[in-house]
Amino acid sequence: MTSKTNPYVKEKVTTTAWDVLKKGGSPLDAAEKAVNVSELDPRDPTVGYGGDPNEEGFHQLDASVMSGPDGNNAGAVAALESIKTPCSVARLVMERTDHLMLVGKGALKFAKMHGFKEENLMTEEARQHWVAWKENLSERDYYHPPKKEYEHEEGDTINVLVLDANGDIAGVTSTVGHHFKIVGRVGDSPIIGAGLYVDNNIGAAGATGHGAESIKVCASFLAVEKMREGMAPQQACRFVCQRVIDRHNGKPMFGLKIVALNKAGDCGCCS
Ligand code: ASP
Repeated sequence: MTSKTNPYVKEKVTTTAWDVLKKGGSPLDAAEKAVNVSELDPRDPTVGYGGDPNEEGFHQLDASVMSGPDGNNAGAVAALESIKTPCSVARLVMERTDHLMLVGKGALKFAKMHGFKEENLMTEEARQHWVAWKENLSERDYYHPPKKEYEHEEGDTINVLVLDANGDIAGVTSTVGHHFKIVGRVGDSPIIGAGLYVDNNIGAAGATGHGAESIKVCASFLAVEKMREGMAPQQACRFVCQRVIDRHNGKPMFGLKIVALNKAGDCGCCS
């Protein structure tokens, strides 16, 4: 798992995945329920409810799922508003449609058709964070900050990759995207091959950080392909990061993190 998530949330994410597996759930059940913990917990400012909104102060969430034992099938939603558990909607896109990704209004309609309730995703803390960002953005607008200091923060994301005792693998990625992003912006998290990739014969990988760069190198797909060629997960993650560094002449001015897991249960992470 990767995420800047509050440590309490992080622990609950992993214990939830474990509990689901112990009760005989599939790796996708485990990954979904684990990511739901983070999506629903307002202490996590980077995923789902309580996450930082876009530049206009509302949330557009991205998520994807991929399941090895279901024929490496996948589902995704992008720019989904007002739904607390976007990864569960992504799962339904995979299981209950012939499509792979639904976006915006269509994704919301689909979620409501399946009984999801529209809810307010803004917490008081996120609202204050957004107002502080707006007030510190420029000296040439009409908003005044109460004080000068303001620390710029990037976004973050949760990836959960699960391997069960049968050797089956699934992964789920969910995010609010970049904090205060432009309305309509979609990152790498719902893009299969970028923010998430699973091959039940090989392993799985997920990415967090600067989504555009993850998309440009097909980060998760590349990591899984490198494992297919024989690299250990750690080597594969390093390979992907090196590819990104090389594309930026050795000096990338952003963060990107890759996690990977192979069929033997070895894992790796590089940023
Ligand atoms: N990768 C996510 C995105 O680009 C954000 C992040 O993980 O920081 O939407």
